[in-house]
Amino acid sequence: MAQSHCLKHQERPTDTRCKSCLKPICEECTYTTPEGKFCSDQCHQNSITSAEKLAKLRADEAALAAERQRAALIKTVILILLLVGGYFAWPHVPDSVKKPVNRIIKSVTGGK
Ligand SMILES: [Zn+2]
Ligand SMILES: [Zn+2]
Repeated sequence: MAQSHCLKHQERPTDTRCKSCLKPICEECTYTTPEGKFCSDQCHQNSITSAEKLAKLRADEAALAAERQRAALIKTVILILLLVGGYFAWPHVPDSVKKPVNRIIKSVTGGK
């Protein structure tokens, strides 16, 4: 692997890269922070901001997934209620309703 050189100090070889923009940086140019090494305070701030955004995005996604799961559960329960209700109510449904429904069912299931 070829060694990089600091962008500001071309004569200085370095293995360190800014965590945010991936620029090669020498020791003198490195901003060492609890979040990692950066080429500038701007990159450090960017990294913190994007990390916060990412954390918020993940939280939002988790909330959305929980919401979807709840909606799917409610749909399933409603579907079961409709099926069960329909099963028990079917004999009491008047023929005027049964005939067109049966025709639809036939056209969907056995239209061969
Ligand atoms: Zn940077
Ligand atoms: Zn440098």
